[in-house]
Amino acid sequence: MKMGTQLIHNGYETDLAIGGVTGALGVPVYQTSTFDQGDLSEHREYDYARSGNPTRKALEDIIAALEGGAKGYAFGSGIAAVSSALGILAGGDHIVAAEDIYGGSWRILNTFYKRWGLEVTLVDTTDLDAVKRAIKPNTKAMFLETPSNPLLKITDLAAAIKIAKDAGLISIVDNTFMTPYLQRPIELGADIVVHSATKFLGGHSDVIFGLAVTRTKELGSQLYRVQNSFGAVPGPWDTWLVMRGIKTLKVRLEAQQAGAGLVAQWLKAHKNVSDVFYPGLPDHPGREINAAQSSGAGAVLSFKTKSAEQAVRFLGKVKYAAAAVSLGGVETIVSYPVRMSHASIPEPERLRLGITDTLIRISVGLEDPEDLIEDFDQALQ
Ligand SMILES: *Cc1c(COP(=O)(O)O)cnc(C)c1O
Repeated sequence: MKMGTQLIHNGYETDLAIGGVTGALGVPVYQTSTFDQGDLSEHREYDYARSGNPTRKALEDIIAALEGGAKGYAFGSGIAAVSSALGILAGGDHIVAAEDIYGGSWRILNTFYKRWGLEVTLVDTTDLDAVKRAIKPNTKAMFLETPSNPLLKITDLAAAIKIAKDAGLISIVDNTFMTPYLQRPIELGADIVVHSATKFLGGHSDVIFGLAVTRTKELGSQLYRVQNSFGAVPGPWDTWLVMRGIKTLKVRLEAQQAGAGLVAQWLKAHKNVSDVFYPGLPDHPGREINAAQSSGAGAVLSFKTKSAEQAVRFLGKVKYAAAAVSLGGVETIVSYPVRMSHASIPEPERLRLGITDTLIRISVGLEDPEDLIEDFDQALQ
């Protein structure tokens, strides 16, 4: 079965899949905190909704199948999925992480997890020798994210994961930017995939949500223990919204990606733009690796204006884009990483990473690309 079909025919087409009797299309919202245990003589699948909820279970199975993993878990936010996945590590363990991971992942690693004794080394994971060199005797995990945010750098997933495997590490990949529609890290050897489903999977900028998938049942049991103990679980309505969003993932992402390609090419030729970062552009250094490990370049890109004033003016003048954090919704969103997603990274470190005050990130939505380009043109004058 191809992906587009699998997004619709996922085993949960009707309520019959979870014991319903009506044949209603889709899975009901089980708005309950607890489950009647009857006379206790039989063991029922659900007892308390932090530990499990039928609506949530449906989405957890759906994302596990889409990513090609054994077990799926849902969380109240993407960062809850990241924190919970890291929760399988222990104090004294060492983790090698991409230096340009999502700002919130950077923060949890470098504050709370550090305080609890997790050692962290951040490296440029596009440099495989640097990845190898960072591994120590107590290294237990590798945390990757590709394309990276906001500079869309590409890490060779199969090669980095092989380094992790050879050293006996668990590899964790944040697949938010690509979704399983474009990239399936577990097929490339990854052990755990995490998502902010707030972005493309939900797709409508109306929900905060996280998902994680494990390659094996054993890792799944470890992650389940974290999910149930930390308790960062989502509610059933939000779960239902993400399930609905996933049904249209193919058409949204295909159209948004096509738009992003056009916008990237157009920006490239603009006199007030100095750099464009999009893995679909012919001169992007990670283009070939990205094309080998995913079926597209996605719908997020970034560019640099020639001055900070121009960047700030652009954000104020765009009409068809919200100037906001987040990405992956049906509406185009432009963001200013230095003051938004990456504001929590200290300035010297941010500059070293190339996140300057001229950098703007665009998540291309479903508007007609011609209108977006016309709008961006007036905002760049
Ligand atoms: C947004 C995002 C997160 C965090 O997700 P939330 O849903 O905001 O908690 C993690 N990773 C990436 C790549 C993201 O874009």
